[in-house]
Amino acid sequence: MTATSTSQRGKMVNAFNPDADAKLPARTRELIERRATVLGPAYRLFYQTPVHIVRGLGTKLWDESGDEYLDAYNNVVSVGHANPHVVQAVHRQMETLCTHTRYLHDGILGYAEELRATAGRPLTDGHLMLTCTGSEANDLALRIAKHRTGHRGIIVTSEAYHGNSDLTASFSPSLGEGSPLGTWVRRVPTPDSYRIDPADLCRRFVTSVREQIADLQRHGEGLAAFIVDSLFSSDGIFSEPTGLLGPVAGAVHEAGGLFIADEVQSGFARSGDAMWGHQRHQVQPDIMTLGKPMGNGFPVAGIVVARDTVARFGHEQRYFNTFGGNTVAVAAAQATFEVIRDQDLLGNAARVGREIRDGLRQLSEKHDRIGDIRGTGLYIGVEMVSDRDGKTPDAATATAIVNGLRDRRVLISATGFHANVLKIRPPLVFSSADADRLLIALDDTLSSVERHE
Ligand code: PMP
Repeated sequence: MTATSTSQRGKMVNAFNPDADAKLPARTRELIERRATVLGPAYRLFYQTPVHIVRGLGTKLWDESGDEYLDAYNNVVSVGHANPHVVQAVHRQMETLCTHTRYLHDGILGYAEELRATAGRPLTDGHLMLTCTGSEANDLALRIAKHRTGHRGIIVTSEAYHGNSDLTASFSPSLGEGSPLGTWVRRVPTPDSYRIDPADLCRRFVTSVREQIADLQRHGEGLAAFIVDSLFSSDGIFSEPTGLLGPVAGAVHEAGGLFIADEVQSGFARSGDAMWGHQRHQVQPDIMTLGKPMGNGFPVAGIVVARDTVARFGHEQRYFNTFGGNTVAVAAAQATFEVIRDQDLLGNAARVGREIRDGLRQLSEKHDRIGDIRGTGLYIGVEMVSDRDGKTPDAATATAIVNGLRDRRVLISATGFHANVLKIRPPLVFSSADADRLLIALDDTLSSVERHE
């Protein structure tokens, strides 16, 4: 495997490079070797000096030696590592009852009622179907879309990631050249608001979608669905312009396809603007898919689907998932939802996210490798460039910063086709003090990277 953050698609961003000449502690080397022996070649580690965390609380993590890290990356534990409300809810439910969705239970009903109330039309009176992972959620969404439309064509963005099942991997181009895309899959270019005038971007984006719909039809494939992460996370984090997806939804519906909002990254208050990422674009998806932060680490995911969209599927086929929606999973999801609501984590994401972006803008005045600052709420992208005029992607600097921050015990990562976009995506309980610590460490790292050039 080559060094981290290369510009070749398929080389995972921020991956540990076993061939690099890093002087690793003996204990780290031993764990890496054992891991390779028992887990095999397909797994990747983060960082040139992999991190060995043994404990977490809130936004902090501790390694084996007791050293503390600031977590500015992990969105799964969105209401904080080891959140006591979620831990207690899971524990209580686990010692009370763990059964599946073929028995009556209040928990799943109350959760579904509260969750869909946060969605707009047509999902407000739609249905919740639960899975264990985001991949399964997208798989189910596509299964429904194919059944509903009678077609299998799927349109995604150029660097999209939607999952690891056979179907979802087939429409996840960010997995790289070695991972085959379906012949029924089409891509539209990343909506790069840094390089394309936002006024032009919306028109160009919907035109690309229309062209790909026509191409699918020309090849005898109709459109089943357009599926999108509205923060374009793996494409490089493009939170603006928010007028982008409305016209696309129109084009997709005109062609008889479904609009699927993949909320695995953008959902559950992450954007600071709205509970769901697609709401920032004022679109009405036929299905939204949920995952990652839904149970604060407990594997619970799912879809909310419009009634009409799933009606025939539900009569002609059936759905069961042994673990998906079990009573413990729902207790985790309910408790997570309560913390987001009761601690106003939407407001916190907006407020602290703004503080981080303001701080980044100040840093950009003295560090000219910072080309662009994007994002919303606590999903922030910082594009590193070697020259601002040419906007030339600078993966080496991004890699040095991610690893330099890791050495200062602050965890972030990078993303995008060129692996040059710093990805800052902390738990939603990130505080102003955490933001200050992140910014000070970043300033220090940038200065150090500049000095060593
Ligand atoms: N969709 C998006 C946008 C994701 O980021 C991911 C996970 N990174 C998935 C789907 C798949 O989720 P999971 O890993 O839970 O299967």
